[in-house]
Amino acid sequence: MKQIDLRSDTVTLPTAEMREAMYKAEVGDDVYGEDPTVLNLEKLAAEITGKQASLFVPSGTMGNQLAAMSHTVHGEEIICEQESHVYYYEVGGLAVLSGLQTRTIVGDRGRLSPAIIEAGIRGKDIHQPQSSLIWLENTHNRAGGTFYRPDQLSAIRNTADDYSLKIHMDGARVFNAAVAQRISVKELVQHVDSVMFCLSKGLCAPVGSILAGSKEFIEKARRNRKMLGGGMRQAGILAAAGLVSLNKMVDRLAEDHDNAKRLAEGIADLGLEIDMETVQTNIVIFKVDKSKKSADKITSDLREAGILASQFGSEKIRMVTHYGITFNDINATLAALKKVIA
Ligand SMILES: *Cc1c(COP(=O)(O)O)cnc(C)c1O
Repeated sequence: MKQIDLRSDTVTLPTAEMREAMYKAEVGDDVYGEDPTVLNLEKLAAEITGKQASLFVPSGTMGNQLAAMSHTVHGEEIICEQESHVYYYEVGGLAVLSGLQTRTIVGDRGRLSPAIIEAGIRGKDIHQPQSSLIWLENTHNRAGGTFYRPDQLSAIRNTADDYSLKIHMDGARVFNAAVAQRISVKELVQHVDSVMFCLSKGLCAPVGSILAGSKEFIEKARRNRKMLGGGMRQAGILAAAGLVSLNKMVDRLAEDHDNAKRLAEGIADLGLEIDMETVQTNIVIFKVDKSKKSADKITSDLREAGILASQFGSEKIRMVTHYGITFNDINATLAALKKVIA
């Protein structure tokens, strides 16, 4: 039986074109700055994001942690949304690696507004820690793949400037955010100081993420990457796949969004609770009636039917569409879900 794997877009496999590009990649020692394929990828990523420079890193988590580390000094405070990946899923790295205190605030479906950010910024009183970095997640994973619009980001930029704060965007899925709004990534990240995005999710590369920002910031991050053990040698083998991601795999993300919409509508039709306003990209999170059947039991019953989904707490389930999921898979998933909850 074919499995339909909706746990995450991280399960995407490299395409045939990627494997061929990896096989043929020209490589060198990237710690010496001599891997031409890594240099090409970093140059292209800087162009696409409209930033001065970029850095190829082994994972999104490392990219985010390097951003925090390179923007701040120990003891400062970072403002982030309470359900954000950096707060939830990065093993407390902000505290361990960068000595940061985290101020979590509640967003609207994952999105922060200038007013709630401003309420979280510390005053001048010597008892208080110094606020230094605003952290935005675009698209927001735990909120169900919601995105920021450029005008919202521009307003947040004004607030940041009023208080001399930096802004980092955790843009693991920023290409989904851009494609869904039919705008360029450049337009979407113009108001932030730095952005991290993943090549290894919907863009299908086997490994790797990018951190982009000013030349000075990326120089710092490069040094910090070496400290964390992320300086890789003939990394062009991996960067070659990343180049295919950026050149070939971006536009098709729209298909994943269409499939997510269809899935979400079908789930609503089954009478399950779902906030359709959050279904903006490739993530679908819905609530089950746990008095009838728990999320745990539903996910394990789905697994037996060959459908893999992620349990999100005791009453929610997450499904993520991606390159490996077809329209027929969505229909099969809905048919199986109907049986499982009956
Ligand atoms: C996946 C993800 C990351 C981290 O990426 P890894 O490559 O898995 O370390 C960071 N932020 C968000 C929002 C993510 O979804």
